[in-house]
Amino acid sequence: MSFESLGLRAELLRAVSEKAYSTPTPIQQQAIPLILEGRDIMGGAQTGTGKTAGFTLPLLQRLMASEKPEKGRRPIRALVLTPTRELAAQVAESVITYGRYLPLKSTVVFGGVSINPQKMKLIKGVDILVATPGRLLDHVGQNSVDLSKVEILVLDEADRMLDMGFIRDINKVLALLPKQRQTLLFSATFSDDIKKLANELLKTPALVEVAQRNTASERVSQVVHPVDKSRKRELLSHLIGSHQWQQVLVFTRTKHGANRLAEQLMTDGITAAAIHGNKSQGARTKALADFKSGKVRVLVATDIAARGLDISQLPHVVNFELPNVAEDYVHRIGRTGRAGNEGEALSLVCVDELGLLRDIERLIKREIPKVVFQGYEPDPSIRPEPINKGRGKSSQGARKSTGNNSRSGQRPPFKGRSSGQGRPANRSRQSTQGAR
Ligand code: AMP
Repeated sequence: MSFESLGLRAELLRAVSEKAYSTPTPIQQQAIPLILEGRDIMGGAQTGTGKTAGFTLPLLQRLMASEKPEKGRRPIRALVLTPTRELAAQVAESVITYGRYLPLKSTVVFGGVSINPQKMKLIKGVDILVATPGRLLDHVGQNSVDLSKVEILVLDEADRMLDMGFIRDINKVLALLPKQRQTLLFSATFSDDIKKLANELLKTPALVEVAQRNTASERVSQVVHPVDKSRKRELLSHLIGSHQWQQVLVFTRTKHGANRLAEQLMTDGITAAAIHGNKSQGARTKALADFKSGKVRVLVATDIAARGLDISQLPHVVNFELPNVAEDYVHRIGRTGRAGNEGEALSLVCVDELGLLRDIERLIKREIPKVVFQGYEPDPSIRPEPINKGRGKSSQGARKSTGNNSRSGQRPPFKGRSSGQGRPANRSRQSTQGAR
């Protein structure tokens, strides 16, 4: 199948061909014709599947086809809501890229930066606005946006917006939109809350799904390295150094943990930067740019900060700590194996995290192979301790994990394991001994 056969107009095909995409991805093949028809969409797709072009291309085409007001300021006719600043910036960039040969104007608004330059752009009039919910409401409060002419609403990564506690903001925004509109909702996972939101928002939606719900990407090879908590950093440096990895995204549970790990890696001679919500927007943008350009080898991130990062062909993702919420594991490993490339996701798992690991394996419906590194065998005498979830909450705000430590504490974990060399040949044998 080609982009031409999807019924896209010449200006869009030209922009796509300049990106050198040869064929539409599965989500694009499914979603583009439906969106062009004007259908509401419930899209099950993770970042990395090409979903941004999947909604942006037909959105641009529909705006070209719909009536523009004769005079006065251009009204906002398409609104894209995203959970994070980074994702907003990336979607906005895609809108510019794919719409470069069309006479449509767009802009992006998100928090953490001055509001006035955003206002100036909005006042000039835009057809498409990409926004994070909080900053959008700031603009509503300051009368710099009018949402009463929105024809198309996109909720991108809706699950994450709910996880981050944006439901009230979303509802406030919805109240300002015309009832008559096209709504596209994308989500990597389908919790009951997402289904409820979809029921409220979407009119006879078409369901488009590319990866199975709540299953980890098939392209990503996954492995768990059992190791004591106190030796994780050493093992990570060893892995990066011995494999000569040049671009590694590492996840920690807390902002403080991300900072500390980045500093420790630097002292090990490995260039690293941390990216999390306490960093200024400038620092986050710089860390990401340095990571993309290869200036820093390791980007240490918390779940929220990493959400939506578009780093193509990222070969390695390391869970330095397992996430408190199993769904985040799926999001994390979705950073690798993107757009058809192979990827590898390693998790360094200490005795405290066995409950979390069990939750993850239950969610992805498979056991992750366990490989113990020689010299890093877990000490069987160490008992599990409660997990420090940062200041008060998990990184995901309101969500709760069932992976508590009391369950993992019921038996000595990793017991009786023979240690291997970290070679794939050991994986299947050791996987049967894993912490199930
Ligand atoms: P997304 O899932 O929208 O974040 O897109 C993930 C990556 O896939 C981005 O780097 C896109 O530029 C790229 N991409 C999108 N569509 C295609 C396509 N049809 N062929 C190859 N790469 C694509």
